[in-house]
Amino acid sequence: MFEPGTEVDDTCRHDWRRDEIESLLNLPFNDLLFRAQSVHRRHFDPNAVQISTLLSIKTGACPEDCKYCPQSAHYNTGLDREKLMQVEAVMEEARKAKAVGATRFCMGAAWRHPHQRDMPYVLAMVRGVRAMGLETCMTLGMLSHEQAEQLADAGLDYYNHNLDTSPEYYGEIITTRTYAERLDTLDHVRRAGMKICSGGILGMGESVADRAGLLQQLANLPVHPESVPINMLIRIEGTPLAEVEALDPLAFVRTVAVARILMPGSHVRLAAGRELMSDETQALTFFAGANSIFYGERLLTAQNPQAAHDQHLFERLGLYPERREDVDDATHEAAIGEQLERARIRAMTTDAMARA
Ligand code: SF4
Repeated sequence: MFEPGTEVDDTCRHDWRRDEIESLLNLPFNDLLFRAQSVHRRHFDPNAVQISTLLSIKTGACPEDCKYCPQSAHYNTGLDREKLMQVEAVMEEARKAKAVGATRFCMGAAWRHPHQRDMPYVLAMVRGVRAMGLETCMTLGMLSHEQAEQLADAGLDYYNHNLDTSPEYYGEIITTRTYAERLDTLDHVRRAGMKICSGGILGMGESVADRAGLLQQLANLPVHPESVPINMLIRIEGTPLAEVEALDPLAFVRTVAVARILMPGSHVRLAAGRELMSDETQALTFFAGANSIFYGERLLTAQNPQAAHDQHLFERLGLYPERREDVDDATHEAAIGEQLERARIRAMTTDAMARA
């Protein structure tokens, strides 16, 4: 698949410097996309796109103050609040998602962290969705080590917890929890043996250096997140970011391309904000190495205009859904084991050098 003569260094690095990443973000557009596409072809079928479906299992009234989020109780956005869904209602939505081709079912709850009283229901949802043959993903806020273990034991495949932006810009966006707490949750998830879905949001008024900072944090984790959602801010009336300047779509494409180069084996996902993009921008992001999308909640039937539009776009671009068996668990676990071993050796080497 890879054309000879293209010199691409896509070894899995975890020591990216901020200035290196900024240089990539500032490459001439054609050079950047060629490089990203070349890396992409070495690691993935370039025409396969993984499809996930997202369901909000508990909506609104979140105590956190994320300035982009309509679910925060700190802002008045007119969003209808909904309590935790019944397990059977979640199963019904998962069945519909599977029927329209989703291979992964993501369940999100607007919590700071799950309460112990909610865990039995959440665990039942994981078991039920997994029994349907779908991959499972949850986003429930911060997790303790014990909660991560419980979710892993129930069979949760992925846990989503975004870093959102760079450590430096983070305080402008969220004040109710720290960057370090986010990293702690990712650590609990990884140690419990689950896969990580973690990315960020662009268009929140951040600088190019902040985008580089976000990507640096993700790429320098001991193991790259298996999924890296890149969101485009949806400016929602009532949130503090409602009036922020709209992001240049090409800046979005650039960030996707650099994510692809830094994390060559990860699925880079077009997440929130995709519906705001033109078909041409989406096509460029697929070329830049994005290979995963959400069919969002309320997009669960083929009759839905957005789902039908997506299917048409796939046809126009010659894309097709990635089959789940394309990335089987045994191969993935072997790769993770290898990466963790490399991270251990890196840490030992750094320690030894520090002592020398
Ligand atoms: S934690 Fe999640 S649901 Fe809560 S305000 Fe932040 S982004 Fe929204």
